[in-house]
Amino acid sequence: MATSSNLSCKVSSNNVSSRTGSRVKAGEVIISSFPFIQLLKEDSKGKLCDFCFRSGKVRKCTGCAVDFYCSVPCQRKDWKATHKYECSLLKKLQPHSITGTPRMLAKAIISLNNGGRSVTEKIDDNLTRSFGDLMTHEECLLQNNELAETFGVLEKMLRCYFGTEISFNTNELLSIYGALLVNGFGVTNCESEEIGSALYLAASILDHSCLPNAGVTFDGSRIVVRALQDFPNFQWSQININYIDGLTCREDRQRSLQRSYFFECHCQRCVDPEHNELENSFLCGNDSCVGVLGVGVTTIARCARCGFDGYSECAVQYWRVVARCRQLLQDEMGNEVKCSLDAATDLLLELCSVGKVASRKSTKTPVDQSLVRAIQGCALHPFNIWRVKAVNAVNEAAIVEKNFNLAKDVGLTNVDAMRYYYGKNHQTYSFFLAKLSKLCVYCNDLYKGEELLKEAQVSVRVSYGDQHPIYHSVSELCHQTRVELATLAVPALKT
Ligand SMILES: [Zn+2]
Ligand SMILES: [Zn+2]
Ligand SMILES: [Zn+2]
Ligand SMILES: [Zn+2]
Repeated sequence: MATSSNLSCKVSSNNVSSRTGSRVKAGEVIISSFPFIQLLKEDSKGKLCDFCFRSGKVRKCTGCAVDFYCSVPCQRKDWKATHKYECSLLKKLQPHSITGTPRMLAKAIISLNNGGRSVTEKIDDNLTRSFGDLMTHEECLLQNNELAETFGVLEKMLRCYFGTEISFNTNELLSIYGALLVNGFGVTNCESEEIGSALYLAASILDHSCLPNAGVTFDGSRIVVRALQDFPNFQWSQININYIDGLTCREDRQRSLQRSYFFECHCQRCVDPEHNELENSFLCGNDSCVGVLGVGVTTIARCARCGFDGYSECAVQYWRVVARCRQLLQDEMGNEVKCSLDAATDLLLELCSVGKVASRKSTKTPVDQSLVRAIQGCALHPFNIWRVKAVNAVNEAAIVEKNFNLAKDVGLTNVDAMRYYYGKNHQTYSFFLAKLSKLCVYCNDLYKGEELLKEAQVSVRVSYGDQHPIYHSVSELCHQTRVELATLAVPALKT
């Protein structure tokens, strides 16, 4: 149900104007810039342009037969930037090839050796960024054995690739490697799939927050950063984006930020004890109570509102299932991993059975129904992060297997939690909403569909802008659904 793949992401270009101290509204573009260097992912090669990352008819460079371009201007720009030096090297390397981080580093060295150090990008009246301004964290890098070892291998590969033609020294390479690790972006397409990586000078001024106030989308290889809320008195130092996925538990966020970006996060969310408790929590077992019961290492808290104590024995069982979630749903850096519908369903049922008498006897009932019922009767809090992740996993796997009704039904149980974790205007949330509302309409759940489409329209407008294909498709579907609902409406009876 994802948006059609031949849509091209066109976003109007933004001129740099001074924003400091002025009023900036939610949805306004605050940074729009082209990469300093970029590299298309291997599986997009030949489908997208190696320079601008746009789809369309691309043609092979006749020199190296490695890179593809959509147009002569793109080829010219890339030639001037790095390809002039790389083309013969790539040709010489055949039948071998150089991809990923080594190639990204090679491009950076070539670019910096050829005037790249003096390239400056203007961000605001008195704010500019050049490569020398980027954080590099060489000391931290060398202290990490794994990274230090990887660096040694990378250096050898590059010396081999460059031969006698291009030279660099080890310290220089180390700082470039550090700059790439800390400042690199994964570039995604309209369907939120990663298509490449890039380094942007301007965007490197943005700090991280686990609940950010600015959002990043891409238009081909161009980065577009939008304010996700109103700023009455805009200051660059207040603006933050998330470097890692927002739907990650605190412990995993801290580990992954430390490992990849070398810092400890003290954002609003990381220091909020209520939020931290919520990530691993049960909902009070008394029907009328909304108490949050945090899970400790060995026990589960008594409800502070009503005194309910029915889950106190379930902590061990809970952490056992969480360990399975960690294994199945994410890699060691906390990034989402896709799993099959069967595996995701089993895991979700297991989570839903914590604190309950095992409820999987009724294998005769179709899984769709029993699964949705299991979620509804789940003892875990609806904002419990593992529950949210497992529901997402089922939703995504069900879409892949074209079980749209199941995808819709489980997706609907996650709306409030997704809004809570990402924020109402974040691109991940708005993309989720857009997908879910389409599922509703597709499955003929028109009232729910219209309700979600209205919210999606507002959210997508802020995170992607009103020129984006996702915004157009959501608006159009919203209009169609309204028309359809109007024809269904029964006229009122005359009394
Ligand atoms: Zn192009
Ligand atoms: Zn070439
Ligand atoms: Zn944080
Ligand atoms: Zn209670």
